[in-house]
Amino acid sequence: MLIRTHAYAAIGPGSPLQPFELDRRRPGSHDVLIDILFCGVCHSDIHQARDEWGGAVFPMVPGHEIIGRVASIGDEVRRWTVGDTVGVGVFVDSCRECEACVAGEEQYCERGMSPTYNGYARDGTTPNHGGYSERIVVDESYVLSMPPGITLDAAAPLLCAGITTYSPIRHFGVRAGEQAAVVGLGGLGHMAVKFLEALGTQVTVLSHSPAKREDAIRLGADDFVVTSEADWLASCDGRFDFIIDTVSATHDYNSYLRALRRDGTMVLVGLPGPSPLEAGPLVNGRRRLAGSMIGGIRETQEMLDFCAEHQIASDIEVIPIQQINDAYERTLRSDVRYRFVIDIESLRGPDRRVAGPVADTAAAR
Ligand code: NAP
Ligand code: ZN
Ligand code: ZN
Repeated sequence: MLIRTHAYAAIGPGSPLQPFELDRRRPGSHDVLIDILFCGVCHSDIHQARDEWGGAVFPMVPGHEIIGRVASIGDEVRRWTVGDTVGVGVFVDSCRECEACVAGEEQYCERGMSPTYNGYARDGTTPNHGGYSERIVVDESYVLSMPPGITLDAAAPLLCAGITTYSPIRHFGVRAGEQAAVVGLGGLGHMAVKFLEALGTQVTVLSHSPAKREDAIRLGADDFVVTSEADWLASCDGRFDFIIDTVSATHDYNSYLRALRRDGTMVLVGLPGPSPLEAGPLVNGRRRLAGSMIGGIRETQEMLDFCAEHQIASDIEVIPIQQINDAYERTLRSDVRYRFVIDIESLRGPDRRVAGPVADTAAAR
């Protein structure tokens, strides 16, 4: 027997998101049924709902920044009890046997992790559906514990934007006192600023939106440079030990590489289309270019605990799901301060099928 669940879905790559119903499986012996409270809106949701990476699975219920409450558990579940506040991130299963899985880096599973949506369960045929829905069923090993004291709606974006920026900052050993830069002040970028500030680095935001200067400083940045000004590199040439690039749109990597000092590292986490890259800026200065994808379950839990300890959460705009298409448009215009989070209660009332009013961008700020 399946569990009928209200959701919002993209029916095809060109279609706006619309009301949709899906069936969740009954929890198996190791499963947890979670009533979803909040779900963050990641730019990856937009890339995938529009099939910008190819191979998308439709109909698609996006959403991988999920916060909810455990509603029921399978008979062998030991880690969770009914009523626990939990999180679910970008993947809901993996092979559990390969080197990456054994190392706790399930996101790099050699057989492919099972994404929370836009992909399949381990059987390779059952499509997974994400957090723009009333509830989800997840194996207990892929569920995160939300530490007490954390604000639930503002914590939702930690499940993707948080871990995606925390993991490379840790992995590449960024240290207090170093010069760090964040390219793009969006959902990921503003989390990177908060983590780098908490670790005691000197943080500079490199942004193409001059209006974000005040916010950047309030979020913890020490400096703000407008990259749409022709001579921006003059103040940044050879300056940074570490750069994290979160930009979602095609852009020229070469000028950002020139902003690294000798032996500096730039990590790409943004996933735009093809963007220009030359050997020169890497060769000159022995600079390094790397990439990084989300983080494993263990590291995601570590990040959540770090956030609770340092009182870090996301800056959010809460919306009912009926405003999701406007939220996508505003995200594409770099006009979100700094993450939309859907209040999933809006899927439960009798008004759930009613399209919401157009978001008033001025009032929302
Ligand atoms: P977002 O909130 O839309 O932020 C992206 C930021 O990029 C914008 O706020 C803007 O910052 C900058 N930007 C946008 N268009 C630009 C342009 N034409 N030129 C220069 N800068 C531009 O998106 P997000 O949710 O943070 O996601 C960012 C990217 O990371 C997406 O591609 C997403 O798919 C990817 N992602 C990757 C992972 C991973 O595991 N690696 C995980 C999650 C997301 P300014 O206004 O400050 O310039
Ligand atoms: Zn994401
Ligand atoms: Zn694996």
